[in-house]
Amino acid sequence: MIVPQPCARCGGEIPPERLEAIPETRVCVACSKEMGGEFTVVATPERISKEGSLKKNYGGYSTQKIRRPIKPKSSE
Ligand SMILES: [Zn+2]
Repeated sequence: MIVPQPCARCGGEIPPERLEAIPETRVCVACSKEMGGEFTVVATPERISKEGSLKKNYGGYSTQKIRRPIKPKSSE
């Protein structure tokens, strides 16, 4: 069962459907849109071949989600 969480930006309620889709979210849908997205995704190439190896690196990219700073709506 998902407990609704208060939005870190406007204090409103984050709908359980959003928490279910993005459990790490801290803001509601409207605030996320206003911020231009809550997270920035950074892709880093994975290095799987050993040093000096002629094998090509077929590793993919590991993605990292970085949370944007959340400013309270009232201070903007
Ligand atoms: Zn909000």
